[in-house]
Amino acid sequence: MPDSSHLPPPSSLADLPFAHVLPHTAAISAAGRLSIGGCDVRDLAERFGTPLYVFDEADFRATCREFRQAFESRWPKVTVAYAAKAFLCRRLARIIADEGLGMDVVSGGELAAARAGGMPAANLYFHGNNKLPAELREALAGPGIGRVMVDNFYELETLEAIAAEAGVRQPILLRVSPNVDPHTHAKTTTGVLDSKFGFAIATGDAERAVKLGMEAKHLDLRGLHVHLGSPIFEVEPYEEANAVMCGFAAQMGDTHGFEFKEYSPGGGFALAYNREQHAPPIAAYAERFVSTLRKGLEDHRLPEPALHIEPGRALVGRSMVAVYTVGARKEIPGLRTFVSVDGGMADNIRPAIYGSKYEAIAVDRPLAAPEETITLAGKYCESGDILIKDAVVPRFQPGELVGLPASGAYNLAMSSNYNMATRPPVVAVRDGQARLMVRRETIDDLMARDVL
Ligand SMILES: *Cc1c(COP(=O)(O)O)cnc(C)c1O
Repeated sequence: MPDSSHLPPPSSLADLPFAHVLPHTAAISAAGRLSIGGCDVRDLAERFGTPLYVFDEADFRATCREFRQAFESRWPKVTVAYAAKAFLCRRLARIIADEGLGMDVVSGGELAAARAGGMPAANLYFHGNNKLPAELREALAGPGIGRVMVDNFYELETLEAIAAEAGVRQPILLRVSPNVDPHTHAKTTTGVLDSKFGFAIATGDAERAVKLGMEAKHLDLRGLHVHLGSPIFEVEPYEEANAVMCGFAAQMGDTHGFEFKEYSPGGGFALAYNREQHAPPIAAYAERFVSTLRKGLEDHRLPEPALHIEPGRALVGRSMVAVYTVGARKEIPGLRTFVSVDGGMADNIRPAIYGSKYEAIAVDRPLAAPEETITLAGKYCESGDILIKDAVVPRFQPGELVGLPASGAYNLAMSSNYNMATRPPVVAVRDGQARLMVRRETIDDLMARDVL
C-alpha cells in the first residue's frame, strides 16, 4: 500500500498529489466525474471514443499569454514562438496566430500546416539540421517566412543559392552550439559539442559561419540561436548559455563587425508530468534569464538584441489529457499486476524512449483513494509498451476510463501506426462546448496509401 494511505481521502482535485499536472479547467462534473473545459470526460469518451485526447483550449490560451507576459514585461522586443513539433494541427495554428505568437517549424509538412492554419509568414521560423532544398524553396516562396535558423555550412550555401534564385534577401539566424549541458535526458540534449545540431564555437565553425553569413549577398544575418535541450528544470543552463553567447557575439563584433541584433535562447522550458516534478514558474525563468542576459550584454558593452523565445512542451503539454478505456488485467503474484488500456506506445512513445513518468487519474471517480500499485500497459505487441510503471491507483475495472494528464507535447506528434493502429482524435473543449480538432484515423485512411 502507498505511504499516503494514512492521509484523509481527497475532497477536491486540488488535494490530489498531482493536481499541478492537470489542465487549469479540470474540475468535478455534476456526475462526480472528471470534467475539462466544462465537459464531462465520460460524455466526451462516449461521443468520440477512446483513446481520446482532450485539449483544454482555455488552458492553452492562458499559457500562451503567460509566456508573452513573462517575457514582454521584462524585455523591449520579444517574439514568443511556439515550437510546432510538440503538436500541430491547423486549428492550433489558428489559435497561436490569434494569441499573437510566432511559430517554429522543422519541416515542409509543419510549414504547410502552419500556413494553412493562417499563421502569417513573417511569424514563421524554420529550424532543422538537414532542411531539404525543396523545403527551403517552399519557405522562401510566396510571402517568405520570417527567419531561417541556419544550422550548417551546407545549408548556408544552399540557402544563399535558393534566395538568389528567388530574388530575395532572407533574414537568418545562425544556430550555435555553445557546449552547455542542460542536465536532461541524453536523447534530448542538443547544445553540447557532440551533437548533430549547430555550429560549434569550440571548433571555430561558429566563427567561420558568421563570416560566411555576413558575406552572403542574399542572406541577412541578424543574430544567433541556441537550443540547449529539453526539458530543462533549472535556470542555470540558460544563464551559462547567455554568458557564452554574449562573449561570442562580442568577439565576432570586434573581429568581423558582426551585429548581434537578435538572440534566440531556444525552448526546453520544463513541464511537470508527475507528482515529483515541479517546473519553475515561467516568470521565474524569464526574470533570471533576462537579468543574466542584461549582465552579459553590459559586460561586453553590447546593445540589447530582440529576443526570440521558443517554448513547445511547456506551452502545450499541460493542455491535453489522454483518455483510455481499461481492459485486461494480469496478476503475477508477488511480482506485478498489469492493467492494459486501449492505447499505448502508438499514441505515446515517451515512456518507452525517454522513461517518462506520467500520472493516472480515474476519470469516473477522480477522488477515489489509491488501492494498489499496478503497471499501466498499452495494447501493442512490444514488452516496452508501458504507459506507467508502478502507478498507485484505485482498482480499475474493465470499461473504466483512465486519464493521463500532461499529454499534449510530443505524444501525438510522435504517434505511429504501429500494429496498424488508427491514431486518436483530438477534441477541443471550452466553456462546456466540445469541438473535434483532429478526427480519429480510420482503417480506410490506413488503406489509402497502400497500393494493391
Ligand atoms: C524542440 C525545439 C524547441 C522546443 O523545445 P521544447 O522542449 O518543446 O520547449 C525549441 N527550439 C528548437 C530549436 C527546438 O528544436
